[in-house]
Amino acid sequence: MKEKVFFIEIEDNEHDDLICTKLEKAIRHNNLFSFIDAKDMVAIKTHFGEQGTKGFVRPVYFKMIGKIVKDKKAKPFLTETSTLYKSRRSNAVDHIELAYEHGFDYKNTGLPIVMSDGLLGDEEIEVNILGEIYKKVGIASVIAKAQSLIVVSHFTGHIVTGFGGALKNMGMGCSSRKGKLIQHSTAKPTIIKKNCTGCKECIKWCPAGAISFIENRAEINRKKCIGCGECLAVCRFNAVKFNWKETYEQLQKKIVEHAMGVVKVNKGKIIYINFLNRITKDCDCMKGFEKVTPDIGVLISFDPVAIDAASLDLVEKRSGKKLPDLSYNIPYKIQIDHSRDIGFGNPDYDLITLKY
Ligand code: SF4
Ligand code: SF4
Repeated sequence: MKEKVFFIEIEDNEHDDLICTKLEKAIRHNNLFSFIDAKDMVAIKTHFGEQGTKGFVRPVYFKMIGKIVKDKKAKPFLTETSTLYKSRRSNAVDHIELAYEHGFDYKNTGLPIVMSDGLLGDEEIEVNILGEIYKKVGIASVIAKAQSLIVVSHFTGHIVTGFGGALKNMGMGCSSRKGKLIQHSTAKPTIIKKNCTGCKECIKWCPAGAISFIENRAEINRKKCIGCGECLAVCRFNAVKFNWKETYEQLQKKIVEHAMGVVKVNKGKIIYINFLNRITKDCDCMKGFEKVTPDIGVLISFDPVAIDAASLDLVEKRSGKKLPDLSYNIPYKIQIDHSRDIGFGNPDYDLITLKY
């Protein structure tokens, strides 16, 4: 059986207010929030955008989504988790301040922000799953305790996972710090000495204190390294090398299995909304903003695998290119394939176009 994926088509560079109006009609006319009960605490999970990024889903959409949830007499709030890498998103206080700077304040959204994993990212609940790699995963406690979940994702390319959509927003974005750590634990980079200029940029960003300098060249202590990939992202001299095969395969599978934990703990009271506009080569953790394809639309589904599969197909159709030609040249369908292999979600979908 195929899963329904609702599609609201948009023009390239269409104004957020117009898209928001169409999306509101789609949700209300099709009663898509009917799974939310009165008095439910409803977590709206998104990515507030790293400092310097512009691609994140704009606050105006959350005001609208929150209003629909409030009309159902439920209690919506915005939520996020801390990052592993050093940035303003690596603790709750700085993260919330950054969210305010990006417009996610109460005045703009009508929603409070409750960080899912506490002050320092360590508040979690363990969830038993039947994965290939894990039988237990660490999910951010607020995500696990919320009675309904709305996962709002900005679909982008990604340096390690090929693409970031609903699965990544849940698998990495709803896991605790410990959950993130075990997802990254197999990814240990090495330094290509001949390329290293000794600029020391990587040492400033390494969250684990794993980089030292020997004869003015970076050296990574593999025991201390947590595999976050921050050094790869900041090195401008191509001096950091990842074992991509180990990294992308394992990481994508681990993300899927953490997403499985989120779905299990929320007992199916979840809806997914993917925004296919302002699509960039990198995710919203990375600076820089260059669209790799014209804007496409907004997708809504009750299945995280179906919505990501449909997003991928639409991006490739609209751009006329395969995703590796738009983002990074790595196998990019492991999230989808692994979901199918472990019986999580359904990659087969019916695309239902809604016109408003
Ligand atoms: S950022 Fe790159 S070039 Fe600079 S010290 Fe680190 S590894 Fe070397
Ligand atoms: S050395 Fe390891 S822990 Fe440090 S930034 Fe690189 S990947 Fe992350």
